[in-house]
Amino acid sequence: MSSKNTLLVVDQLKKHYTTPRKWLSKSRPPIQAVDGVSFSVARGETLSLVGESGCGKTTTAKSVMRLVEPTSGSVKLEGEELLSLDNEQMRLRRRDLQIIFQDPYASLNPRLSAGDIVAEPLKNFGLGSSAERKERVQWLFSKVGLRPEATKKYPHEFSGGQRQRLGIARALALNPKLIVCDEPVSALDVSVQAQVVNLLMDLQEEFGIAYLFVAHDLAVVRHISHRVAVMYLGHIVEVADRETLFSAPRHPYTEILLSAVPVPNPRTPAKRILLQGDPPSPANPPSGCRFHTRCPLAQPICKEQQPALTARTLDDDDSLPRREHWVACHFR
Ligand code: SF4
Repeated sequence: MSSKNTLLVVDQLKKHYTTPRKWLSKSRPPIQAVDGVSFSVARGETLSLVGESGCGKTTTAKSVMRLVEPTSGSVKLEGEELLSLDNEQMRLRRRDLQIIFQDPYASLNPRLSAGDIVAEPLKNFGLGSSAERKERVQWLFSKVGLRPEATKKYPHEFSGGQRQRLGIARALALNPKLIVCDEPVSALDVSVQAQVVNLLMDLQEEFGIAYLFVAHDLAVVRHISHRVAVMYLGHIVEVADRETLFSAPRHPYTEILLSAVPVPNPRTPAKRILLQGDPPSPANPPSGCRFHTRCPLAQPICKEQQPALTARTLDDDDSLPRREHWVACHFR
């Protein structure tokens, strides 16, 4: 899944959480939040991770940043293995790797002014004089659509959308190559969501930033993504460029997810397929294909053998989006 233009390569990433054993009870199996996930992101590309809550998409994104420490696997940024870096080396590498959180308010220090919040990463890396940092902060504010005088305000004086703009300005401060966007618009009003998504797209076009975009809103994903990876119970079950995924999904789980997306034309309503049952526990995932307990197409082999994520079509050029389609299903 890599090409000459590849920025990030994640290979067989796992994050298993061990749960403490209670006195006199048997040891509990680990929770397999992420279990062998592989994908790549090209420079200037948006790859979205989608799936039900609890599917492992946020844990995958945080593992890439090492905000949670992966259990095993490999995460390479421009060929450098991030999982073998010590704390100081990783701190320095984070200059290229930033994150925007779902709740901008919780991620902004309420005691710092907006200008100081955005200047903080520059200070931490010892970049520029005080006057140069001030100038850069003003420039960053203009880039994210905030007025220059807003540098003096505090986080509680901003609206939700403005606070997310502030979070984006802080993430942009160090000229990152990749920004992990963890549900960045799901806490915002619908009208504000569109503005923030369009801002992210404009910034990508101007600065060539790549996004690893975690979301559950498929309308937003369709708007912003070049490629989409669908996750189910800690596994990736389908990866494709946006057009292919939304027009010709192959994995039964993807078909069910997409059937729930509202259709713009009410005269041709899509047939909604209901997902049966609750997701199984990641501490005790089903054998074989993890989706077999809920899949309308399941056959006996699905219980026995785990289907590999295999390429259905592959286009090895460097244009965005790459035309490719990977599916983990015995029959699709
Ligand atoms: Fe369904 Fe079987 Fe395909 Fe899994 S492998 S998605 S259970 S048909």
